[in-house]
Amino acid sequence: MDENKALNSSRFKRVCVFCGSSSGKRNCYSDAALELGKELVSRKLDLVYGGGSVGLMGLVSQEVHRGGGHVLGIIPKTLMNKEITGETVGEVKAVADMHQRKAEMARHSDCFIALPGGYGTLEELLEVITWAQLGIHDKPVGLVNVDGYYNYLLSFLDKAVDDGFIKPTQRSIIVSAPTARELVQKLEEYVPIHDGVVSKARWEAEQLELNSSLQTEIAR
Ligand code: AMP
Repeated sequence: MDENKALNSSRFKRVCVFCGSSSGKRNCYSDAALELGKELVSRKLDLVYGGGSVGLMGLVSQEVHRGGGHVLGIIPKTLMNKEITGETVGEVKAVADMHQRKAEMARHSDCFIALPGGYGTLEELLEVITWAQLGIHDKPVGLVNVDGYYNYLLSFLDKAVDDGFIKPTQRSIIVSAPTARELVQKLEEYVPIHDGVVSKARWEAEQLELNSSLQTEIAR
């Protein structure tokens, strides 16, 4: 099969990217954000992210937008001030708060990718891993381990497995690769484990109820 044909038949449609609202001090981080943007475009994948143009968030979103991919930025009303987040390219969805932002980012995506980032990125990444562990979703989760940026986190997770806080089967929820291209390929091949404690159907019903109550709140 020729390479372009293989790339165009992705199992995903929309990819959620978590990444730094800063660009980091080394060029390798910006380069990785641009590379991920190009990879999504080449596979005809749309982007879901936290909105705005700051840091790596801006780089990856602008790259996908420039390449003709659809960009959906989900941003809490309080962060919509341009001095905080800059301009968002593509479609913008305003939400009530950070919790709803994460729920909406997850709802609109088929898989999750983290680039290097700080507290915000870690929190978003660990939350979707926790949701996968509980069986709330079975969407693949991966990180681009740019120049070993996440080595300490991955070692910590291994320590948590050794010490009995993470089950070995659940350690494999998080997929990592040094480059965007390798990571997306691994995510395409990822087979989810199904030992969540609560069935997906029950979580989905709960999510529907939560969303309708949040929509009522935003409309007020
Ligand atoms: P951090 O990794 O701490 O830079 O935070 C990045 C993540 O936190 C993003 O994915 C956003 O969801 C959120 N975030 C933090 N700062 C901002 C900002 N100035 N504008 C928009 N989102 C932000």
